[in-house]
Amino acid sequence: MALVSLRNVTKSYPSAERGGDRVVAVDDVSLDIESGDVYGIIGYSGAGKSTLVRLVNALEPATAGSILLDGRDLTQMSERELRGIRRGIGMIFQQFNLFEQKTVAKNVAYPLEVAGASRAEVRARVAELLDFVGLSAKAKNHPDQLSGGQKQRVGIARALATSPRILLADEATSALDPETTHEVLELLRRVNREFGVTIIVITHEMDVIQSIATKVAVMDGGRVIESGDVFDVFSNP
Ligand code: ADP
Ligand code: ADP
Repeated sequence: MALVSLRNVTKSYPSAERGGDRVVAVDDVSLDIESGDVYGIIGYSGAGKSTLVRLVNALEPATAGSILLDGRDLTQMSERELRGIRRGIGMIFQQFNLFEQKTVAKNVAYPLEVAGASRAEVRARVAELLDFVGLSAKAKNHPDQLSGGQKQRVGIARALATSPRILLADEATSALDPETTHEVLELLRRVNREFGVTIIVITHEMDVIQSIATKVAVMDGGRVIESGDVFDVFSNP
């Protein structure tokens, strides 16, 4: 059974203009993401990628169709169950979204504190995660003292704090130079290999998909216009 399964998912929004047609952000999308995949979703700006992320992350309900996680339909879940689903999905972002007022250690500790971990658990887990991302020496620094790549490594450590099964990377390398992008992608590859975390990579950059993803869905105008193994999709004339 697929870990994430979208079946004819559509999301539309009311038009900004009075009486205008609804804006269809995601249009009849079906796709399956298997546990352990590094699954790329590529498309130009406005293709519907971020909307798709919000649907999978249960931040918004679909207008039509169903989204199954482990075969369970999100639309059938209570708000309490949806909160559990959200905790099982880590997110990293283009602008990192770190807490600027908190130290690196406190940024990573935050999801653990929210989840009610003990002080000892937080301390041990933060140490382990900072070691994993190679930032133990920066524990007491603030984000404004870090490079972009270091900030994203903190973002990854924070996203992994509660041991999610899925990591959603939304344009996570789009603010980084090519070398730093390469380092961050290498780290994501380790997250996938060493922890078996399923990674969904949202990007407009073909290089990113070719460097890290095994499967890809190409979005345009809210639709998936092609999907499959990266090699097959991109070797088509
Ligand atoms: P991408 O992430 O690929 O750039 P989005 O999912 O952000 O694409 O947007 C897809 C389309 O849906 C765009 O036309 C966008 O303007 C529209 N859209 C996204 N979110 C909303 C919203 N909350 N209200 C109205 N329209 C939206
Ligand atoms: P505080 O003033 O609350 O100690 P810190 O930023 O030093 O703030 O730490 C935030 C959290 O991260 C605390 O729960 C602490 O246990 C943990 N922590 C701090 N420094 C380290 C470190 N070097 N290694 C592991 N955990 C740390």
